[in-house]
Amino acid sequence: MSPRHRKAFIAALMHETNQFSPVPTNLSSFGIWRPAGAGEPPCALDTLAYGTYWRRALDEGLAVAPGYFATCQPSAPVSAADWAALRDEMLADLARAGSVDRVFLFLHGAQCAQGTDDVEGELLAAVRAHVGPQVPIAVLLDLHANVTRRMLEQADYLLACLEYPHTDYAARALEAYDLLDRHVRSGLRPVTAAVRLPIVGAYPTTLEPMRSFVEHEREVQRQAGVLSVSACHGFWLSDVPDAGATVIAITDGDPVRAESLAMELAARFARAAVPAGEGLAAPEAVKTALQFAAATGKPSVIADRCDNPGGGAAGDSTFLLRELIASGAAGLTLAMIWDPMAVDFAHRAGAGARLALRLGGKVGPRSGDPLDVVAEVVVVRDDARQAAFAQGEPRLDLGRTARLRIGGVDVIVNSERQQVFDPRVFTAHGIDPASCRVVVVKSTTHFRNGFAPLAGAIIDCETPGSVTTDPTLLDYRRLPRPMSPIDPGTPRTPTPLGVFSRVS
Ligand SMILES: [Zn+2]
Repeated sequence: MSPRHRKAFIAALMHETNQFSPVPTNLSSFGIWRPAGAGEPPCALDTLAYGTYWRRALDEGLAVAPGYFATCQPSAPVSAADWAALRDEMLADLARAGSVDRVFLFLHGAQCAQGTDDVEGELLAAVRAHVGPQVPIAVLLDLHANVTRRMLEQADYLLACLEYPHTDYAARALEAYDLLDRHVRSGLRPVTAAVRLPIVGAYPTTLEPMRSFVEHEREVQRQAGVLSVSACHGFWLSDVPDAGATVIAITDGDPVRAESLAMELAARFARAAVPAGEGLAAPEAVKTALQFAAATGKPSVIADRCDNPGGGAAGDSTFLLRELIASGAAGLTLAMIWDPMAVDFAHRAGAGARLALRLGGKVGPRSGDPLDVVAEVVVVRDDARQAAFAQGEPRLDLGRTARLRIGGVDVIVNSERQQVFDPRVFTAHGIDPASCRVVVVKSTTHFRNGFAPLAGAIIDCETPGSVTTDPTLLDYRRLPRPMSPIDPGTPRTPTPLGVFSRVS
């Protein structure tokens, strides 16, 4: 193909669907950036892998036909009609792109809609039907993807980020760029082997033994003939038959090697996926955090991991805030309580005002009871931002925000539900988290990249939130059972999903 025909179609659709989330989802829940033309990627948005791929293409002189970039905070499934609208808009973008010689999609891998368990599989089948069998498709997934046979059949290159926190989206996007480029220029012959494991859960890659597993994946990927390897951990709040961990190995034309690599990596993953210990209950978490802060002279960071909006929780639970206030201690801070009404009241009252507020605890029983407090409004803003994984410029809009002081506790409330990634959530409101005694963040793992450097200790707290890892709180109906570690003693036996190749 002559250089003038070299053109990539790129698009992004990211929604981690939590079937137990109390937060409903519709089209307006998605932030959709629609490109005006070929131009350049938007610099005001955190476009992660989508922007990285696009900028690399610009550097290399590859034409890009951009489709939309759509993201949504994790929440309940969208309706069938809204899913159809999202799919059809991407297909319309693709049709407008005209002739393309490669496709790069940035998808989550654990998106469901009402009546559709495998959104990504359906989407890939539709994109494949449009571009035909010869155009290579690379997909970058979230590490928490539930990989399906359909996804494996339709894509040439299925990659997931290797890190949790997902700090390597940019690096993986560049790998996808190179694979597609080599495919088009020199005829790579990708063969994918995939192996399923009956394992789900949260396994941060910053901690051993998962840290060494990721280093091993990187070593394997450097071997001659190996194009890519990934380990998707699966999403335990997707109550679907394809939920679970999947290991993927892609070789250049060698199915036997792909299979043996995938099995070897799956066996290693099964040993490395060690469940985190049970978190402390809120009263113990606060007590322990204060003790550690006194001992280390540094802040203790408490992860309110079960009320993590980044996994589909409401983000307005009050269990920890109640304990912070009850402790009577000073130098405590918490972010963020999602409470648009409290934010609105604080903005109307203005900085410096004192007002009685009924705070948080509004979405449902897993949010706890609302707190009736008298708060001082310290700061109000409508332009505060953070960066995903605390990487680069802060481009995630927090919505309208307020810093409220209740006794010795400074709490950030906001109007756009999201987890805390970045210490700039605090500094944007005049709080230096490094000089606090206790810092509470509503996040499970992604906060670690930004907060581990300042923390004297990190303490996991277990509350009844919607991102719980306690299976007794979740009414699973369709998850394959037995599943480790939900069903204790489940054998972690790998099952091959098959070998997939589009090259004849
Ligand atoms: Zn994830």
